[in-house]
Amino acid sequence: MSPAARLRQNVRQSVHTAMARCLTLPAMNTIPLTEIVEPAVTCSTCAACCCQLEVMLITDTGVPDRFIDTDDWGGEVMLRLDDGWCAALDRDTMMCTIYEKRPLICREFEMGAPECIEERQGIATAYR
Ligand code: SF4
Ligand code: SF4
Repeated sequence: MSPAARLRQNVRQSVHTAMARCLTLPAMNTIPLTEIVEPAVTCSTCAACCCQLEVMLITDTGVPDRFIDTDDWGGEVMLRLDDGWCAALDRDTMMCTIYEKRPLICREFEMGAPECIEERQGIATAYR
C-alpha cells in the first residue's frame, strides 16, 4: 500500500473511531435550571426616587405651608430643595415626614407600577 493510501486509510479509521465514541456516550444529563429572581421592588430599598418628581397640589390634604412652593404658572407644588428631593422627605431615613398628609399625587403613585420602575432606573446610582 502506498504511503498516501495508508494515510487515507488511517484518517478514515480515526473518523470512524471518533464517531463510534460519540454514539456510545451516555445520555447527557439535564442541566439544572437556576431561577434568577429579580430583586423585589419596594420603597424600603429605594432612595425615594419618585420624591424628586414635581408634585402638584390639586387637593387640600393638609400639607404644611413650609413645604409648599409655587410653580411658574402660579400653581401649588411640593417644595424641592437644592438636592432635588421634596422638602418633606427625611434625608436620613428617605421616608416621607408628612405621610398622613401627603398630596393626592403621592398617594396615587403606585409602588411597582411602570412609572415607579422608570424612576428607579433613572437614578439607579442613588439606591441605598
Ligand atoms: S420610586 Fe417606587 S419604590 Fe421608589 S419610593 Fe417611589 S414608589 Fe417607592
Ligand atoms: S410629600 Fe412625601 S411622598 Fe410626596 S414627594 Fe414629598 S416626601 Fe415624597
